[in-house]
Amino acid sequence: MEMPGDKQGEVYALSLGIFSAKVKGGQGRNMHELGVVFRIIDDLTEVGKENKLEKIHSVTLQLGEVSGVVPSLLTDAWKWAANRTELMKDSELIIETLPAVTFCEDCKSEYETVTYGKICPNCGSEHTYLLKGNEFMIKEIAAT
Ligand SMILES: [Zn+2]
Repeated sequence: MEMPGDKQGEVYALSLGIFSAKVKGGQGRNMHELGVVFRIIDDLTEVGKENKLEKIHSVTLQLGEVSGVVPSLLTDAWKWAANRTELMKDSELIIETLPAVTFCEDCKSEYETVTYGKICPNCGSEHTYLLKGNEFMIKEIAAT
């Protein structure tokens, strides 16, 4: 059976990797959530133009555990700023948290950053560095 109306209002997902900022983990936040949101909106406005999008319904972000960005503040800032645009009005911000992993140079093991911090739980070494967990990336958007 033909469903001519099917195409209308179809939502499709765009996979994006358009904005990836490395931010410092550890103590102190050096990234202002509203500033982050403005950058996302700028980038998505460009994507909207390029792809002739009428409406962005949701935006999925990947956020590292130690990215220094607070998800609840980011969501609040998003609601405020997105509602001031035509393209992103009432869109939903979906945040996926990526676990932080630290690598120990002395015993070559990997461990959970948030649980153990800078000291390796296996050998007690301080010669460790963050492998991942400070990502900040737009993963995909749903748009029409
Ligand atoms: Zn170790």
